[in-house]
Amino acid sequence: MHPFFLERPRDLEAAIALRAQAGRNDAPVEYIAGGTDMVQLLQEYVRRPERLVSLAGLLDNRIEVGPQGLRLGAAATMAEVAAHPGVIEQFPVISEALLESASPQVRNQATIGGNLLQRTRCPYFRDVGYEACNKRAPGSGCAAIGGENRWHAVFGTSENCIAAHPSDLAVALVALDAVVEVKGADGERAVPLVDLHRLPADTPHIETVLEPGEVIAAIVVPASPVARRSHYLKVRDRASFEFAVVSAAVALEMDGTRIQQAHIALGGVGTKPWRVPQVEAALGGASLDLAPLQKAAALAAAGAQGRGHNDFKIELMQRAIVRAVETAGARA
Ligand SMILES: Cc1cc2nc3c(=O)[nH]c(=O)nc-3n(C[C@H](O)[C@H](O)[C@H](O)COP(=O)(O)OP(=O)(O)OC[C@H]3O[C@@H](n4cnc5c(N)ncnc54)[C@H](O)[C@@H]3O)c2cc1C
Ligand code: SF4
Repeated sequence: MHPFFLERPRDLEAAIALRAQAGRNDAPVEYIAGGTDMVQLLQEYVRRPERLVSLAGLLDNRIEVGPQGLRLGAAATMAEVAAHPGVIEQFPVISEALLESASPQVRNQATIGGNLLQRTRCPYFRDVGYEACNKRAPGSGCAAIGGENRWHAVFGTSENCIAAHPSDLAVALVALDAVVEVKGADGERAVPLVDLHRLPADTPHIETVLEPGEVIAAIVVPASPVARRSHYLKVRDRASFEFAVVSAAVALEMDGTRIQQAHIALGGVGTKPWRVPQVEAALGGASLDLAPLQKAAALAAAGAQGRGHNDFKIELMQRAIVRAVETAGARA
C-alpha cells in the first residue's frame, strides 16, 4: 500500500485550503471520504498522494425531501439514501440504482459525493503492470483500444481513452437533471451533474470540471413530474457486487396510456453518464406497445462506436431502454 499522511482538518475551509494548494487531478494532496475507492487505488499504487485530507465530519449528510425536490448532503452514505422512505417513494430510480451498486458493506461506508467521483474500472487503469494508460500516466497510450475492451464505452470516447464511467447513481441523477452544489476556495457554485464529468478528448486524466480544492457539498434533484414513475435497469455479468455492462435510468410522465415526457440516461456505455435526447423526443406521445418503444430505442445507436469486444453494447442498450420504459410505465 502506498504510504500517506492523513490530515484531519478542523473545518471544511481548512480542508479546502489544504487541498487547493496541490493542483488538479491525481495531486500530491487528495480528499478521502468513505475511502472505498481511494484505499483500493492506494493498495494498487494507482494513486500516490503524499497526504490525504479527510472529509469525515466536515460535510452535510442530511437527506431532505420537500416540495422543491430532493437535497442530499454529500456525506450521506449510499445505504442511507437508498433506504430513505421519501427517496424510495418519490425518486425510486435513485434508490434502485444504489441498491444495485456494490455490496451492503460498501454502501454502508461509501458516501454519495465519493460515488460521483470514483475512478473508472478500466482494468488497465487499475493495474500498474500495464504501462499504457493515458488516464493514469498522461501520454503513455491506451492499452484498451487495441486490447480487451468488453467493458469500455461506445459514446464520448477519443483515441486517447475509451474508459466507461462506473457510477450507477450518477446515471440515475443525470436522468433527473440533478445539480451538484460545489464549495471551493472562491466560494460556492452550482454545476448541472451532466456537466460535471468531462469527455476524455486529449486529457483523459482530467475527469471533472472541479477546480483544485473544490468539494461536492450536496446534490439537488428538482421536483419533476417524471421522478415518481422512474426505474433503474442494470445489466451486469453477475447478479450482485458487479458494475454495469449496460444500464438505463428511465423517468416518465404518463398521460393515460401514452408517454407525455421521458427522461433517459444510460450507464456502462459512455465515458460519462449519457443522456439520449433523441430517444426521449421520439417517446413523446408514444404508447407502451413494443413496436414504438423499439423504434424509439433504436435511435440510441446514433453516434455509438464499438471497438470490437464491446460492439454488443449497442444492441444491448436498446433492449435495456425498452425494458426499463415498460417497467417504469407500468408503475402507478
Ligand atoms: C467491491 C466494490 C464494488 C463496487 N460496485 C459498485 C457498483 O456496482 N456501482 C457503483 O456505482 N459503484 C460501485 N462501487 C464504487 C463505490 O460506490 C465507490 O467506491 C464509493 O461510492 C466511493 O465513495 P467513498 O465515500 O468511499 O469515496 P472515496 O473512496 O473516499 O473517494 C473517492 C474519490 O472522490 C473524492 N471525494 C470523495 N468525496 C468527495 C467530495 N465530497 N468532494 C470532492 N471529492 C470527493 C476522493 O478524493 C476520491 O478521489 C464499488 C466499490 C467497491 C469497492
Ligand atoms: S481506456 Fe482510458 S483508463 Fe483504460 S487504458 Fe485506455 S486510457 Fe487508460
